[in-house]
Amino acid sequence: MNKTLVAEIISVGTELLLGEIIDTNAAFLAGKMRDRGIFVYRKSTVGDNMVRLTAAIKEALQRADLVVIGGGLGPTDDDMTREAIAQVAGAEPYLDEALLENLRLMFAARGRSMPDGNQKQAWLIKDAIALTNPVGTAAGWYVSLAEKVIVALPGPPHELKKMWHEQVEPRLPVSDQHIYHRTIHTSGIGESDLAARISQFTRLESPGIGTYARNSGVDVRVAAVAPTMAQARAVVDPVIMEIEAILSPWIFGYDDETLVSAIMKLLLKAGQTFSCMESVTGGELAAEITDCPGISACFAGSLTAYSNSIKIQAGVAEELIREHGAVSEPVVLAMAQAARKMFKTDWALATTGVAGPDPLEGKMPGTAWIAVAGPSLEWSQLVDWPGTRQMVKNRICRSIFQSFFKLLKEEKAR
Ligand code: AMP
Ligand code: MG
Repeated sequence: MNKTLVAEIISVGTELLLGEIIDTNAAFLAGKMRDRGIFVYRKSTVGDNMVRLTAAIKEALQRADLVVIGGGLGPTDDDMTREAIAQVAGAEPYLDEALLENLRLMFAARGRSMPDGNQKQAWLIKDAIALTNPVGTAAGWYVSLAEKVIVALPGPPHELKKMWHEQVEPRLPVSDQHIYHRTIHTSGIGESDLAARISQFTRLESPGIGTYARNSGVDVRVAAVAPTMAQARAVVDPVIMEIEAILSPWIFGYDDETLVSAIMKLLLKAGQTFSCMESVTGGELAAEITDCPGISACFAGSLTAYSNSIKIQAGVAEELIREHGAVSEPVVLAMAQAARKMFKTDWALATTGVAGPDPLEGKMPGTAWIAVAGPSLEWSQLVDWPGTRQMVKNRICRSIFQSFFKLLKEEKAR
């Protein structure tokens, strides 16, 4: 019989506690378990310490049906996940001949002989089956203890992900619950304003609704739990439709969509193209645009015109720069028009500004002019923010994408 599965994630590694690496594995595992209707109620991080790791596994097993451990399966003494699981299970690790042979072959294939330290990567306990690792030396463990399951996976994210899909998912017990969720992405509206507008829904018991302020704007996540996906969906979808009606002026996409993918959708529909000329953003617009799969269908390219002479060579009139300065409205508009001409695109985005801080003054907010030029309109805006150069550049990208999306939507509505 299926049951509602509760899980905990334990990330192992002192480097995580020292803030040297970010725990991306736990985020990955949490998302995967959510998609299978497994409820992750707690995540914890422990260093490479036998006493604390053993205690963490024991505690997690008291609360959860499934404990997924990432890390600590390396060959060195500070990797102790196998030892800790064996202690919790009250089992003695033994050397598995097949795993050992596999390891030897793996080293031989790389023209090396296996160091003694790696032997423990061929350990097993009687309640465990080995999860083979096609991309590394650390096999994982799938341990069945009475009604509970412990899964141990190696820390390197590409190994953990591959093994989760190929080795763990097919073996997991099935949860009797399903979680259906959708995320609405908005931009151009503040979190409290948005929350006030949808407050009649956020008080509902089900679906659960959360708002999250992100770089691109505010997200609204709507989720429900039910015995079947269809039932969960039937709770979520009507509420999504009502929220859509309220927030439609600000919505740019759903789930995996981004501002750039939303822009791409509108451009493809209109059969139009775009390009950029970037000064202050130094190529960051292009970098973010080209992260979007399929963007080549509407994006021609970007020129990083950082110096005045390159702006002039690219078609910005020298007098404009002399008269108004490089960081000015006439120059940013001229840059956008020059990009349209140079790349032969319908639309172009341009940025010119200072990302701050001024090395002489010490502190200065980033200030930039941003522009969008299209077949029948020109738009520009002065933006300024405090923050590091990276933050300022990020925000400039955010602003120009938001504005471009809005302009395209308005253009479509006309
Ligand atoms: P380990 O399996 O503990 O030997 O981990 C090997 C490497 O995987 C570490 O040095 C990290 O670079 C990476 N790693 C381990 N745990 C995590 C994690 N939770 N998130 C991201 N990377 C990790
Ligand atoms: Mg480690």
